[in-house]
Amino acid sequence: MNTPSTDQSNSLSSADNGKISARGKSVLNQGEVALVGSGPGDAELLTIRAMRFIEQAEIAIYDRLVSDEILALLPDNCERFYVGKEQAKHCVPQDKINEILVHEARLGKKVLRLKGGDPFIFGRGGEEAEYMLQHGVSCHICPGITAASGCTTYAGIPLTHRGVAQGCTFITGHIQNNGQLNLPWQSLSCPTQTVVFYMGINTLPKIAEKLVEHGRDINTPAALIRKGTQPEQKTYRGTIGNLAELVEKHNITPPTLIVIGDVVNQLTEQQLKTPGFLDANDYVQPVSVKIA
Ligand code: SAH
Repeated sequence: MNTPSTDQSNSLSSADNGKISARGKSVLNQGEVALVGSGPGDAELLTIRAMRFIEQAEIAIYDRLVSDEILALLPDNCERFYVGKEQAKHCVPQDKINEILVHEARLGKKVLRLKGGDPFIFGRGGEEAEYMLQHGVSCHICPGITAASGCTTYAGIPLTHRGVAQGCTFITGHIQNNGQLNLPWQSLSCPTQTVVFYMGINTLPKIAEKLVEHGRDINTPAALIRKGTQPEQKTYRGTIGNLAELVEKHNITPPTLIVIGDVVNQLTEQQLKTPGFLDANDYVQPVSVKIA
């Protein structure tokens, strides 16, 4: 049951209309799992490979971050298994999720493990894959657009920009088991670097305090993007100094991404009327500081 497939007879529907020559590459066999990133929410951001696995799934085991729009793409006869996952409040604990994956695969099903964003970016996809392999279950792996990329793009924020940001770091703001937030603050405070915090909304005051303490300018532009790429997407722009205030004022809850750096105001300071669409009529010349 664990040989990689070259089964050309497996019928795939719409995504496989002959236009893409990769037919046969993404075939999900009985007893296998496809660990698939669903991206940040907009179904149009799914990869063709992800879509192919979705169409073949007999059971989908999915997290809270998988959008309704994407769940609606599952075949009608596909079983749905919600395993939740909110910060520190796992609907089903990780050990149990691992066991469910192996159990369903051993029943001979075509199992789709659907995760928000990219499975290998703050997604525990590596742990799940490792557990499956240790238990003799083969697993297709499929990347998804991670929140840092999808949400910032749909908010009109380039993660790097020539002369403004030379690099970008994705980091978790989730508190560690020891109750601490031990992060490499010195390097995160470099002014020519964009920093994107996942799971940081509850620790935001601490994040802001630490960045400033380590030398990042309190007036550095910053943004909060809630439910990025989805119809409810909201972007709040401010500075490191007033982000925590914004959270309180607008009662901002997860899933929200925190973006720090001059790139935040590079393209437009306005809320995009349509996420993912930059309207030339709304363009405002940025006042960001360029790297000398
Ligand atoms: N594997 C996922 C990240 C899971 S961690 C990925 O690659 O995107 C969960 C955190 O991701 C959330 O707390 C939030 O900070 C961020 N996130 C995920 N989807 C998001 C979305 N649509 N909008 C805003 N933030 C999102």
